[in-house]
Amino acid sequence: MAETILVIDEGTTSTRAMLFALEGRCLGCAQRELTQHYPAPGLVEHDAAEIWQRTLECTREMVDLAGGAERVAAIGITNQRETIVFWDKNTGEPLAPAIVWQDRRTADLCAALKEQSHEPAVQAKTGLLLDPYFSASKIGWALGNWPQLREAGDRLAVGTVESWLVWKLTGGLHITDATNASRTALMAIGSGGWDDGLLALFGVPRGVLPEIVDCAGRFGETNLFGAAIPICGLAGDQQAATIGQACLEPGDTKATYGTGAFVLTATGTALPTSRNRLLATVAWQLGGQRHYALEGSVFVAGSLIKWLRDDLGMLASAGESEALARSVPDNGGVYLVPALSGLGAPWWRPDARGAISGLSFSARRAHIVRAALEAQAHQTHDLKTAFAGDGCDWTRLRIDGGMAANDWLAQDLADMLDVEVERPAFVETTAIGAAMLAGVGAGLFNSLADAAALRGETRVFRPGLGENQRQARLDGWSQAMQAVLG
Ligand code: ADP
Repeated sequence: MAETILVIDEGTTSTRAMLFALEGRCLGCAQRELTQHYPAPGLVEHDAAEIWQRTLECTREMVDLAGGAERVAAIGITNQRETIVFWDKNTGEPLAPAIVWQDRRTADLCAALKEQSHEPAVQAKTGLLLDPYFSASKIGWALGNWPQLREAGDRLAVGTVESWLVWKLTGGLHITDATNASRTALMAIGSGGWDDGLLALFGVPRGVLPEIVDCAGRFGETNLFGAAIPICGLAGDQQAATIGQACLEPGDTKATYGTGAFVLTATGTALPTSRNRLLATVAWQLGGQRHYALEGSVFVAGSLIKWLRDDLGMLASAGESEALARSVPDNGGVYLVPALSGLGAPWWRPDARGAISGLSFSARRAHIVRAALEAQAHQTHDLKTAFAGDGCDWTRLRIDGGMAANDWLAQDLADMLDVEVERPAFVETTAIGAAMLAGVGAGLFNSLADAAALRGETRVFRPGLGENQRQARLDGWSQAMQAVLG
């Protein structure tokens, strides 16, 4: 009997497969690191063949744990978004490196399009901005610069990471789900189809792209594990986390603190527009109906702690940051603006660089580490202001991601945002969201609301900081930020 759901979570730095019992208990996890390729400053590539090999290994382990493919009811896939893969339809082999979402090679191209005043139309159609972050300019660049892609002609297939994995799992199904498609800047998010004007603007032929489908359904089967397993759920990682946090009603908001930080507020079935440089994106699509979200993407979150640990040697482990932050009564006037790879929402300043301000001889390592953690609440507060300006203020925040394990950080978020912060006991919400979609797609649940019980228990952090102290922190951050923004 098929009593489990298998989730493939293909992240930026690692690939995982996880096995869930139908009531949501996690039965096991297999994980493999992915090699990061940095061929030149600003360039970030992955080897799509490695992504597939690691995925296959992890998935095999979880199928074995389940006791065979016949015991797996459905596969759900969630993935790093925007990263783009190029492969040969005949051989199923990659034709070029995958260009990763962090890659900035198309900064000049995007700046030129902005200069030519294309941004308002791009934003109106896609909900996105003209930034190298999104896939479209990366695809256009690759077609213009990698001759093997042009030479491949009709054999060329292009897709985001879930699209690549579905192709490999099924042996040739070329689909993408609406959430992943909404991050390419080639889909008109109001209609849910590829847009001819955008395809022409970025120089992408329609024929290389996959068909856009729902996030749940019976999309195809994989026969690689001994018996057929249907693939029933697909969503980009941040959308999957939104679903996994049960942010299903308009106003429900989650923030994921991993390498970067990504905040999404569900806005319902009406297409949102932002006047504050937030992104409008597809939260999920079921039965052809799209539910939308506003999104604020912050590029540097956990990577700041990693940098303090690995490059500056200030921390023995990421977890040590919590004890260090607690070891001092306040930040001692030190602020850290983590613009190490520019600033994302709501500033969108790729040229900005980070700063540590307010240093004196009394500043200790603990103050700098505390400032690094405090920066997360401040960046999130800046987003909250932008969301409020767009008519989507938050009354509560649901958090997850590797950094959310830090209790001090969770409390600081509650204090600075002045809202309750809720953290599930099982923080792998991205995988839960993919399992929920796969469960709905396989007919095990009637709706996402039915599947939401998979989220489990939560812990709440309540705001407790005095208003004067809170305002002093906000003012200190605002000054530090002004210096960085110039
Ligand atoms: P991703 O999915 O983006 O690879 P994760 O969600 O696994 O990232 O989170 C890992 C990040 O969280 C790392 O950058 C690490 O520095 C940071 N991190 C992990 N544990 C803690 C902690 N206890 N306190 C602060 N940061 C942490």
